[in-house]
Amino acid sequence: MWSTGSLTRSTCSWLILILGLDVGVASAQEPATRIQSVSTPSIAQPHTDDWPTYGLDYREQRHSPLKGIDRSSVSRLGLAWYFDTDYARGVEATAVVVDGVAYVTGSWSVVYALDARSGQLLWKFDPNVPKSVGASACCDVVNRGVAVYEGKVFFGALDTRLFALDAKTGAKLWEVTTADRSKAEYTSTGAPRVAKGKVFIGNGGGEFGVRGYVSAYDVNTGALIWRFYTVPGHPSDPETDETQAMAAKTWTGKWWQYGGGGTVWDSIVYDPELDKLYIGTGNGSPWNRKVRSPEGGDNLFLSSIVALEPDTGKYVWHYQEVPAETWDYTATQTIILGDMAFGGRERKVIWHAPKNGYFYVIDRADGKLLSAQPYSRQTWSLGYDMNTGRPIENPKADWTQSTEEVSVIPGAAGAHNWPPMAYSPQTKLVYIPEQTIPWVYQSLPLGGVRRGTYNVGTVVAGLTTADPLLFDVFMRTMLKGALVAWDPVQQKAAWRVEHGSIANGGILTTAGGLVFQGADETSSLVAYDAQNGTALWSFPTQDAPVAAPMSYAVDGEQYILVGVGRGGTSGLMPRPRDTALPPKGRFMAFKLGAQAQLPAPTPRVDYGDPPAPIDRSEATFDAGEKLFREYCVRCHTLKGVGNGRLPDLRRLPRAMYDSFDAIVRDGAVEGLGMPRFGHLLKAEELAALKTYLLVEAEKDRALRNQPSWWVAIKRTGYELLAKVLVRLM
Ligand code: CA
Repeated sequence: MWSTGSLTRSTCSWLILILGLDVGVASAQEPATRIQSVSTPSIAQPHTDDWPTYGLDYREQRHSPLKGIDRSSVSRLGLAWYFDTDYARGVEATAVVVDGVAYVTGSWSVVYALDARSGQLLWKFDPNVPKSVGASACCDVVNRGVAVYEGKVFFGALDTRLFALDAKTGAKLWEVTTADRSKAEYTSTGAPRVAKGKVFIGNGGGEFGVRGYVSAYDVNTGALIWRFYTVPGHPSDPETDETQAMAAKTWTGKWWQYGGGGTVWDSIVYDPELDKLYIGTGNGSPWNRKVRSPEGGDNLFLSSIVALEPDTGKYVWHYQEVPAETWDYTATQTIILGDMAFGGRERKVIWHAPKNGYFYVIDRADGKLLSAQPYSRQTWSLGYDMNTGRPIENPKADWTQSTEEVSVIPGAAGAHNWPPMAYSPQTKLVYIPEQTIPWVYQSLPLGGVRRGTYNVGTVVAGLTTADPLLFDVFMRTMLKGALVAWDPVQQKAAWRVEHGSIANGGILTTAGGLVFQGADETSSLVAYDAQNGTALWSFPTQDAPVAAPMSYAVDGEQYILVGVGRGGTSGLMPRPRDTALPPKGRFMAFKLGAQAQLPAPTPRVDYGDPPAPIDRSEATFDAGEKLFREYCVRCHTLKGVGNGRLPDLRRLPRAMYDSFDAIVRDGAVEGLGMPRFGHLLKAEELAALKTYLLVEAEKDRALRNQPSWWVAIKRTGYELLAKVLVRLM
C-alpha cells in the first residue's frame, strides 16, 4: 500500500519526467533588468506603438493601427523570441504592452513582465493560488490577462483575489478578495478593465451555483466603490434595491438557493463616448430552468448585456438575448463598440456574437435591438421577433420538458466562446472564431448542491459513444470551426475559412490588411488577407494558440505577439494525440526578417498495456462514467482522452493506475494541479471511477491492436454515419 507522503515526491518526479508536466516551483529565467518608466497609456486614443488594454482600446475592436507588416511583407515574418511560462496548462491571455514592456499572464494566474524587444523576463509575480482551487474551475486554470493604468498592473487570480502591482518592479501594492469562496465556488479568470480611477472585475462559477456580480475598486487603495448583482438575491436581503426588485419579478420559486448564475466572467467594456459601462452576463445556474425558476419567468439579467453608470454601478438599460436561458448560453463574449448606419442614420452600436449563434447589433444609447441574424448553425430558435426583440424558441430544443435526451446546436461550448473576435475599419467586417459543436442535454433533478462538481441539472457533455473509434470519428467529423468574416450591416458572412477542428484562436486585425488567428488542427499561427481570407503566412507553434494575437511596435519595428497553449473551454474537447508532447504555456513574438527557432519537442512514449479492471460489471462502469462526467470531464475531457496538454488517462504508465487512490483521493500530485477528491467521493465511487478508466483504457488498447486496414474500413463507415447524424440534429 502506498502512503501519500512517500508517494508525493517519487510520483511527482517521474510524472514530470514521463508525462512532460511541470510543477513550476521555480522559473528557469530569473528577472534581468528593472523597468525604467511606465507612462499612463492612452486607452481612449491608442494610436501609438502600445497595446494598452485587453482589447487594445476602450472600443475593444482589436484592430492594430500599425502597418509595418502588410500583405506584401508578411511572408518575411519570422520568430523574434519566445518565452516559456511555468506551467503546461491553457494560455488565454492577450498581452498588454506599454513603453516596450509586455505584461502577460500564464495559467495559475502568474504574471510576467517581459522586455518586448527580447522576451527577457523583467519581473514575475506568482499569487500562489492553492492548487485545490482547480477543482472549482469550470474550464481550466486559465487567465486572460492584466490591466495597466497609472503605473500599476491589475489582475484577478483564480481564487478571486484582485491584485495591484507596481508596473516597474512587480511589487504588490494592494490585494483584495472579490468573492467569498467559503459561501460558493467563485473563480476569476477574466482580465480586469480600468477607467475613471476604477478597476472593474467580475467572476465565474455559473456551473457551481454562484450568484453573479461585477465590482468596481479604487485603483489607488483597493477600496470597494460599488457592486452590481446580475441576478436578484433573497427578497428580504437588505441589499435589494429597485433594480433587484425589478429583476426579482422575473424569477419564481426559491432561485436564491441555487445562486442563479449570470456571472460576468469576461467582457466588461467602458464607453467613453456615452460614459457607460457594458457587461456581458453568463448562463443560469443551474442550467435547468425548471429547477432554478420552476414557474417560468425571463430570469433577469441572465444572458444579457447590461449598461451601468461607471461611477455608481447604477443600472441604465439591459438587453436580454436569451430570456429564461437554459443551454448555458452566456452573453459574456467579446463586446465591440462600433459605429454604423442603421435605419437611415449613424448610430453608436454594440456588436456581439455570443454562444447562441446569433450576431446582434444593439444601440448603445438605449439598448434597443437593431438586428439579430445567425452567424452559425443553430437549432434552439426559429428567429427573432423584431417588434419585441425576443427570440422565438424552438419547442424541440427545450430539453427541460422531459427526461429524454435532446440534441441542440450549438451546445454549452457555444458557436463562439471567449476567444476574442475583432473588427477591421478597413473592410468593415467583424472576424469571428466560430465553431459547431452539437450537444446532448438530458434533464436531471438537482440532487442538492454539491461542491467540486458541476451542479447544472443536466447530464454533462452528452456527445459520447461506447466504441472508442466511433467516438474519435464523432470528434473529428462533427466538431468543426471556422474563421467567419461577418458584415454587420448586411448581417451575412462576406467569407468563411473552414477549420478541420474546434478550439481555434482569438483574432487580431491590422492596418496592414491582415487578420491573424491560431489554427488548432495544424497547431500554427496564420495570417489571412482581411479582404478575402486567403492564407498568406503561417508558422508552426507546436501547440494551438487559442489566445488572441496582439501587435505593438518598439524601435520602429512592428511585432505580433501570441500566447500558445491549448486549454480553457476550447481544451474541454478531446484532441487526437500528437506524436510529441506540447511545450509549456508559451508566448511567441514575430517580426519581419527574424529567424529564431523553437526547441525540438519531446516525443511521447507508449507505456504498454494498462492493468485489467477487477470489476467488469456494467453497473459499476455506468456509475463510473457518470462520476467521470460530473467531476473529471471538465479538465480531462470525455473518456479521459485529454486536450493534448493533460495526459490521456487511457494511456498512463501502469504505476499510475496502481496509485489511483493516492492521486485521486489523497491528492498525491496536487502540486501538479490535480486536486484531491477524497472529501467529495466515497470509496465505492472511487472504485467505480477507476473501473471506468481501466475499461476505457482496455478498449483503447484493443483498438490500437487491430489491423490498420480493418480500422480504416470501419472508420470510413463511421464517417458516413457521423455526417448523416449531424444533418439530422
Ligand atoms: Ca457556463
